[in-house]
Amino acid sequence: MSLLAPYSYNSFSMEVHSSQEAAVGACCDSVETGTVERVAVASLPTEWGDFQIAAYRSLTTKEEFVVLFKGEMNRDVPTLVRIHSQCLTGDVFGSTKCDCGRQLHRTMQMIQQEGRGAIVYQQQEGRGIGIVNKIRAYALQDQGADTVEANVRLGLAVDLRDYRQCAEILFDLGLCRVKVISNNPLKLRALEEAGLKIVERVSIEVDATEDAAGYLRTKKEKLGHLLELKR
Ligand SMILES: [Zn+2]
Repeated sequence: MSLLAPYSYNSFSMEVHSSQEAAVGACCDSVETGTVERVAVASLPTEWGDFQIAAYRSLTTKEEFVVLFKGEMNRDVPTLVRIHSQCLTGDVFGSTKCDCGRQLHRTMQMIQQEGRGAIVYQQQEGRGIGIVNKIRAYALQDQGADTVEANVRLGLAVDLRDYRQCAEILFDLGLCRVKVISNNPLKLRALEEAGLKIVERVSIEVDATEDAAGYLRTKKEKLGHLLELKR
């Protein structure tokens, strides 16, 4: 039987924290801690349901994170999680060049339905190259380059993202056993290497628009994403 008391954000206290620590040895004892700081937690009602939103700061870089979560966070309960990398064009403007916005909203619906889960929103636009470089890459894509070729032609890395602090944030929230909503094997491996226990990969495929079909094919063929691609 677990020593872990049910963990709820609303009842967060030193006492809860110490019982958490007592249980850490049973699961996820290798997660690195102390490199992020939780700054604030608030409620966030949305079109897809009522969530809580937490703000985190990296203590080693200038990176900031937000986490949208719902329900009780319990180390022993396999919980839906997603690391969502910021995509201004897709998440905010509804770009049909990629599937990011639809994946984000689909994930929120899945968590709402399950009543429990967390999305770490990582502000690493354009796989880490930043919004300005991403638009430069889009300009090259207008001339026929794919997402990988465009980055290479600009002298930019294809993927600069680092997920260790995302794993630490999930751990800090009170999670250990996770069901990861992702098609990206790099994210899965990174979470596992960071010490989280992945009990399931939950695939996510939203209906691709005509515009996004080429982008998704490149993600599958050049970046190893686990996609079926019906189109
Ligand atoms: Zn996108």
